[in-house]
This record gives sequence, structure tokens and C-alpha cells, in this order.
Amino acid sequence: MDAVRQVTLSERLAEIDSEISAAALKSGRQVAEITTIVVTKFQPASLIRELSALGVRNFGESRHQEARQKVDELNDPTLVWHFVGQVQGKKARHIAEYSRVIHSIDREPLLTLLASDEKLTQCFLQLNLTDDPARGGVNPDALLPLAEVALRTPGIELLGVMAVAPLGQDPSRSFARVRMASELLQTVAPDAVSISAGMSGDFREAIREGATHLRIGSAITGNRPVAG
Ligand SMILES: *Cc1c(COP(=O)(O)O)cnc(C)c1O
Repeated sequence: MDAVRQVTLSERLAEIDSEISAAALKSGRQVAEITTIVVTKFQPASLIRELSALGVRNFGESRHQEARQKVDELNDPTLVWHFVGQVQGKKARHIAEYSRVIHSIDREPLLTLLASDEKLTQCFLQLNLTDDPARGGVNPDALLPLAEVALRTPGIELLGVMAVAPLGQDPSRSFARVRMASELLQTVAPDAVSISAGMSGDFREAIREGATHLRIGSAITGNRPVAG
């Protein structure tokens, strides 16, 4: 037997699953209220197929072109696609064709573009927790006006708030801000109770602060191939 054995995909998946359960238990939360989305950006469709065979149903992508290709290649209606990257206006409607959930709504024009009398798109409003306006997300001060627009846009189901914890800051404090923003949002949108927060390096802290949708990439998939 090899002394050093490669950790397999199924082992990483099981390990993260059990860490999620442990963190939920420690916070007095139910695992059933937490959805794990495996973020597969830059990863080949074959990896998604392997994860699917292991029971994963929720996948996250961040670039439209790449996502569209994988959705078409896999052609599996049992998979649920989440779009987690910045949304360009001209791609918004295309993204909504295959995404059940868009996590990164951060400005009013996107809502107008997604308005529909036929199709329902579930959305998170993304918060920008940095001082850099080039980062995706709405300033927390502008969350409620954006939520009001989302609530009156046909075809939009508002799920809650989404955020990425800024690098170099204590993730617990960042996620505490997200939790407060979520509570504020619920004053105008009582059904928008979900929180999309937590990545490979900080999902434990996010669970402690109430995250319901984790977006985990490299801790499950292994390192991403370098972007081409
Ligand atoms: C890439 C990405 C993730 C996953 O990041 P990991 O650190 O690999 O877990 C989560 N959310 C967003 C918005 C991302 O772009």
C-alpha cells in the first residue's frame, strides 16, 4: 500500500459535509436548513459529473460563457445551477435561462432586465462589505431601496442577502454585519430569510452567523486550474 495516498474527491466532500454538520450542531442549528453549493468555476464538466455521481445537486458558476457551456454539455435537469459571479447587464437574461438562483444582484437595472411574467428567478441581493466600489455588491446603506424594487418586480423571488467576507478582516465580524443586514431586509421582506455566505476558508464562521447557503469551491474540488 502506498504510504502517501491522494485524498479523493469523495473524501473531501465527506470531510466538508461532516464539518458543516459539526458547525451547525455547535451553533444549535439544523443541517437541513443549510444548502451547500459546490462552486465549480474553472473546473471541467467531468468534475461536475463526478460530484453529481456522489450526490451533489447544487453547483455554482461565476462566468456566463463557461457556465452556459457546462450546462449544455452536462444536459442534466436534476442539477440546480447558481450564478455567483458579477452579472453584466447584457448577459442577465441569458444567465437567468439556466440559473435557478442568482446570488449577485447588486443594482436596480438588473432587476428590470430580469422582470418577467412567465419565468421566476430566485435572487439574493449582494452586499459589498469593502470600501471598494469596483467589488460586486450594493453598499449596505442602499440595501432597502434595492429590496423595494426587487419586491415589486414580477418574476423575481427575493431570497435574502449574499456576501463575500473581505480578505484580511475577521470573517466573524463580516458575517455579523451580513446577519444584521438580513434582519434589516426582513423588516420590508419578511420572506427573504436566506443568507448566502461562507466559502472554503470561512464557512464555519458563516454557519455561526446564520448562513443558509454556503458557496464552497476549492475545499471540495481541490485547487482550481489556472484561469485560461
Ligand atoms: C469562487 C467563489 C466561491 C468559492 O470560493 P472557494 O474559496 O474556492 O471556496 C464562493 N463565492 C464566490 C462568489 C466565488 O466567486
